[in-house]
Amino acid sequence: MPRSPSELLGESGASSTSGGTASRGIGLDTPLRTLLGEREAALFTRAFGYRTVGDLLTHYPRRYAHRGELTALADLPTDEDVTIVAEVKHCSTRPMRQRHGTIVEAVISDGTGTLSLTFFNQKWRENELVPGRRGIFAGKVNRYKGTPQLTHPEYELFDADASDEDAESWQSRPIPIYPATSALASWKIAKTIREGILPRLGHVDDPVPDAIARERKLERFGKALRGIHTPADDADWRRARDTLRYQEAFVLQAALLQERERLRETAATARMPVADGYAARFEKALTFELTDDQRTVGDQIAHDLAQPVPMNRLVQGEVGSGKTVVALRAMLQVADNGGQSAFLAPTEVLASQHLRSIVAALGPDLSAELMPTLITGRLTAAERKKALLRAVSGQAQIVVGTHALLSENVSFFDLGLVVVDEQHRFGVEQRDVLRGKASTPPHQLVLTATPIPRTVAMTVFGDLDVSTIAQLPAGRQRIESFVVPLAEHPRWEQRIWERASEEIAAGHQVFVVCPAISAKETEDDELAEPSDTDADRAATPVASVEQTVAAIQANPLLAGVRIAALHGRMPADEKDSVMRSFAAGALDLIVATTVIEVGVDVPNASAMIVLDADRFGVSQLHQLRGRVGRGSVPGLCLFVTAAEAGTLARERVDAVAATLDGFALAEADLDLRREGDVLGSNQSGGRSSLRLLRVARDGSVIEKARADVSALLESDPKLSDHPALASAIADRLTERSRDFLARA
Ligand code: ADP
Ligand code: MG
Repeated sequence: MPRSPSELLGESGASSTSGGTASRGIGLDTPLRTLLGEREAALFTRAFGYRTVGDLLTHYPRRYAHRGELTALADLPTDEDVTIVAEVKHCSTRPMRQRHGTIVEAVISDGTGTLSLTFFNQKWRENELVPGRRGIFAGKVNRYKGTPQLTHPEYELFDADASDEDAESWQSRPIPIYPATSALASWKIAKTIREGILPRLGHVDDPVPDAIARERKLERFGKALRGIHTPADDADWRRARDTLRYQEAFVLQAALLQERERLRETAATARMPVADGYAARFEKALTFELTDDQRTVGDQIAHDLAQPVPMNRLVQGEVGSGKTVVALRAMLQVADNGGQSAFLAPTEVLASQHLRSIVAALGPDLSAELMPTLITGRLTAAERKKALLRAVSGQAQIVVGTHALLSENVSFFDLGLVVVDEQHRFGVEQRDVLRGKASTPPHQLVLTATPIPRTVAMTVFGDLDVSTIAQLPAGRQRIESFVVPLAEHPRWEQRIWERASEEIAAGHQVFVVCPAISAKETEDDELAEPSDTDADRAATPVASVEQTVAAIQANPLLAGVRIAALHGRMPADEKDSVMRSFAAGALDLIVATTVIEVGVDVPNASAMIVLDADRFGVSQLHQLRGRVGRGSVPGLCLFVTAAEAGTLARERVDAVAATLDGFALAEADLDLRREGDVLGSNQSGGRSSLRLLRVARDGSVIEKARADVSALLESDPKLSDHPALASAIADRLTERSRDFLARA
């Protein structure tokens, strides 16, 4: 069938005009300054870092306002933000009484009442606010001598020659409300897009192929961009949003799946299992039986390591499920082939603990041969030199460390495996740095104790294979969890300390966890996930380590108890020595922040008391609980909260207390979290973020998109027939959004 030239050119058919060639020049790549001029374009660059038309057009409205939401002047609330459609009745300028300068005062009316607008030293407003002009005004209502007014309101005037009907139709359209800054108001953004960009936009390439768009009943990209920014009605922006949301999932999944393929195509050194090697000796010497899950996952890893392509595997398993043992076995298989392993831990405390437990697990003979070595930022110059030498010479077959391992002067003789413990604190970029220290790409193993719902795994770890250790080793003690609701039972506070003293009297040890270090300082240097603390709650004081230590020392119930504080502001060696004394039983109770959240192993610790538990996220609470019940002692976990029953904060705490099943909790967490929290709090902010997609809500979109992408990549792995998708992926990657995603 003969095709029309415009079809061949990829024009969108009927709507393309004779100006097609010229307008095709303006696409998503066009610099904003070409269209808007330097000065205006700079506003967008300064406010959001935007440089291209595509940047600005994917700045989607946060929501849409409707005429029905406009405030009538007859019932103006004070101290609230209002949006009003009204007509300028009167405008005048007068000098200020006390100071130099002028005041422009305009009076507007909507037929139900009047309101005055005040501007200081902006005499030019007078030229705009001409009596008879209608417009939309917004600001916070204040009262001056009893009269309601808006000071320096935002406004947008309707065209002077707009008929009443035009104004009506304009007013009945949904008004897009954009994420804005003080320098760049929502209206300014709307107007720029509506008048400066969209009318000149030519054809835009759609990363979603036609056939898929048809099947999924999606709009074409160009239409959807218009629909989301300038909808005629609500149905318009909803359709557009669904299309763009799918497209976002589609491009993201394509990027992840392609990355996975790319990694699989590179060559790695195969590390075969060796009979009677280190790994075999280690297994033989184990004092316990591996669980079935540990075996299965261990076999998967052993198989992966023996392939000439890099392993990229995520192992998720409850706290205490024995992931470290599995990782250690993998490191030994690599050592059997002369390769080194790097074990990356999120904190100094954990890195040194891992080193100790690795040395203990290996026993003296294997340790002497494999020379496990610690590299952290806190080594003395001499220690550091020795450690670096062991790494670069290949003497140390296992190198354990923190971020310090990533530094330039750490090099390896033959790095074969990178193990990343507690993934969520390391981004893809950091993993890449470590990978770069090997001559051929190393195998990679990521461990996480945070159970990940399927769609989150798909989005955040879409480039990894996932294994799960669901079983806990036999003989694990039950953990009992209770909420201590101080809102309803303030007296129970004393009971908490009674329970603590009972545990200590029985020869056990107790953790007390606080959200803050001192009245002023919160823990943020080693902070775990961004907690979804409400802004208003942040204002009320929370339990701090300092105050709690003082209170415990003054509490007669706990007289003579050996206690210490542990938090991220302490020097590393001090933290380490506190952890060591606690592990050795020389302390009865430690009051800590979330530094102890991940991985710390003290089998004799029986009680975990979390103060102001509602300040922590679901997975954090679950992790904290995992610190007890690790040995032969049953665990007790008290979540103390002043949050009232029925609040979201309280629901979270209740949910954790109600189940020990981390996977069920991860799903519940997803339900309880508000939009946008799953991938971190800044998800709706800067460029490197998801825009319309929310992992918590859009699981089915993500699954559909992933299935569509898989099928497409199967028939066209290099995307040579899908250049628009290929370039959309490239754009996404340059945004470094993957780094962002992996930090989630
Ligand atoms: P994770 O890293 O998953 O939190 P670890 O590997 O640190 O768990 O294991 C927690 C504790 O359980 C360690 O003391 C470890 O020696 C022990 N352990 C691991 N696997 C088993 C098993 N199959 N049976 C008994 N104890 C085990
Ligand atoms: Mg661990």
